[in-house]
Amino acid sequence: MTRPSSISGGCLCEAIRFTVIFPKESDWPPQRNGICQCTMCRKHGGSVFPQNVSFPKANISPPLESHASYKLYQSSPGASRGFCATCGSAMTFQYDGEPDLVEINLGSFDEEVLCGKRDEANAWEDEYGRHVPRIGGVGFELCYPKYHIFTENAIPGVTDGFPGPKYLRDKSDGAPFTQKPSELKRQQ
Ligand SMILES: [Zn+2]
Ligand SMILES: [Zn+2]
Repeated sequence: MTRPSSISGGCLCEAIRFTVIFPKESDWPPQRNGICQCTMCRKHGGSVFPQNVSFPKANISPPLESHASYKLYQSSPGASRGFCATCGSAMTFQYDGEPDLVEINLGSFDEEVLCGKRDEANAWEDEYGRHVPRIGGVGFELCYPKYHIFTENAIPGVTDGFPGPKYLRDKSDGAPFTQKPSELKRQQ
C-alpha cells in the first residue's frame, strides 16, 4: 500500500477539521497504534474498544488547538484528552511529557479514509439490502492495531480475542503475551 500524501478527519459537527501528512517513508503506516481498554479511555470515548494512533503534532494541519471548540480535559496527572465542546466528539489523548505528539482516536478520521469512497455507479441490491463497493481508503494500514494495553479489563468473549501483542496494563508494566488474558495461569 503506497503511502497517502495526507488523510483528513474531524469531529461530528465539523467545527474541528484536520489533515495529517506523512512526509517521511518511516511515517507510514503509523506504528504507535494501540487499543486501550482502560476505564478512562472507555469513559472518554464511550467505547469498550477504544483505539488511537500517535502522530507528530508538526504533521497535523491546522493545529488542533487553533479551533475554538477544541478543549482539553486533564484526565490524570500528566495526561489530557481533547474533545469538541460543540458536538462532544472525543478526539485525542496526549501526555504532558510528550508535547510534540498527540494520539488521535481513529474514529475521528473521515469515512473515505477508513472505508474508501462510495462507488455508487457500481452499487447493487439484493435481499440483504444495498451493496456499495468502495474505492481506495487506508483503513487497514491505518487501523490494524499494533498492540493492546490494559487487557486486564478485557471483556471475555467480546474484547479479548483480537490478535497481536497484549499487555495487562501499560507497555512498561510487564511483558507482552498473545493469548487471551484469561488463559494466563498462575505459575505458583
Ligand atoms: Zn464538533
Ligand atoms: Zn487508556
